[in-house]
Amino acid sequence: ELTEQSFKRIKETDDKIHAFLTLDEERALAKARELDEQEADNLFFGIPAGIKDNIVTKGLRTTCGSQLLDNFEPVHDATVMNRLNEKNVVTVGKLNMDEFAMGSSNENSSYATARNPWNTDHVPGGSSGGSAAAVAAGQVPFTLGSDTGGSIRQPASFCGVVGLKPTYGRVSRFGLVAFASSLDQIGPITRTVEDNAYVLQQIAGHDQLDSTSANMEVADYTSALNQDIAGLRIAVPKEYLGEGVDEGVKARIQEALAKLEELGATWEEVSLPNSKYAVAAYYLLASSEASANLARFDGVRYGVRKEGEDLLDLYKKSRSEGFGDEVKRRIMLGTFALSSGYYDAYYKKAQKVRTLIREDFEHVLNSFDVILGPTVPTTAFKVGENSNDPLTMYLKDILTIPVNLAGNPAISVPCGFSDGLPVGLQLIAKPFEERTLYKVAHAYE
Ligand code: GLN
Repeated sequence: ELTEQSFKRIKETDDKIHAFLTLDEERALAKARELDEQEADNLFFGIPAGIKDNIVTKGLRTTCGSQLLDNFEPVHDATVMNRLNEKNVVTVGKLNMDEFAMGSSNENSSYATARNPWNTDHVPGGSSGGSAAAVAAGQVPFTLGSDTGGSIRQPASFCGVVGLKPTYGRVSRFGLVAFASSLDQIGPITRTVEDNAYVLQQIAGHDQLDSTSANMEVADYTSALNQDIAGLRIAVPKEYLGEGVDEGVKARIQEALAKLEELGATWEEVSLPNSKYAVAAYYLLASSEASANLARFDGVRYGVRKEGEDLLDLYKKSRSEGFGDEVKRRIMLGTFALSSGYYDAYYKKAQKVRTLIREDFEHVLNSFDVILGPTVPTTAFKVGENSNDPLTMYLKDILTIPVNLAGNPAISVPCGFSDGLPVGLQLIAKPFEERTLYKVAHAYE
């Protein structure tokens, strides 16, 4: 019934929302029927879920939002999929995204642009726009997204749902199609903080197949949920409520702070002085890593192969016709930044800035439990509003990107509306302190 209900809802809403790129209806219903014959033995048993289309799913088309992978059917499952399948989650389909997770609005999907369920003239955010929209539209109770510079938190904020980017290394990246390997993390998008904690509990943990996965015990996230927050110390970076942040967004964040104070927390203004360099450093580092990671898409090993006069011509045609503009822009930027003679001036410098940003977070979190601010400076913008202006689009991620560079965990929780569109509250904690995020977010919610 749950799975049927999920497909029913998708059919009613998805010709407007475009959250899904591929549905797996026949297999999902067959699995659900099979589960009906068994005794439910865990919380996830028979729960329908949607998966971002850059997480590989065995025998189920995985496009990464790209024409280049239009026909790609992976031969194995990502580790997170194995973890969900173990509990008999029913995967209903694969979710829309900006091509190779590069974007902040879903407009870089080479399929239809997903829409914001609160107002379909507006973007759902990106790159995990489909993942956030599907939860907001009530199509599935939870989805997985990926976050390299904000791609879980920003769409969660725009769509009024809960999205968590775990600490770098907490969730296995095995089977996540790599964009920028030193920044990418998979995380849950849900309606409630409690659901989010349950999903993270299930997908987190060490994985030998991902050498960057942390060999550390997974904390008990759900037991953190109902703890008292009296005495909690909150840091509010002045850079997070400064210029460029909409008045409506600021007002909601101030109300959230007042509510947390009522619950016994205290707050102080702090500074993250190197945050202003984060967007510049990120676009250098992320594009450099992307230029290396995307070299594998040559039309031979994966995806759509174009005819060519010789091998080089085949590569050229497959890549030129297969990749969209934004992906090409990043590959060119990254290849340039890594080329000999420029490495020290750009890549190495950006790495140094990354260290400074991480130290800013360490410094503040030595004396505070969480950092609080908006997830995004604005609410969801209109489809087409920024699509011809990559720089403005890049600046949308100014409050989420520093967290990826530092590696810390962060959550976006809904905190009211501004002009009829959802606002997201961002909480950032020390590495591996997801428990603190869930505790505070749940108390606030
Ligand atoms: N919007 C950012 C970018 O385009 C972040 C994307 C992401 O987190 N995958 O790179």
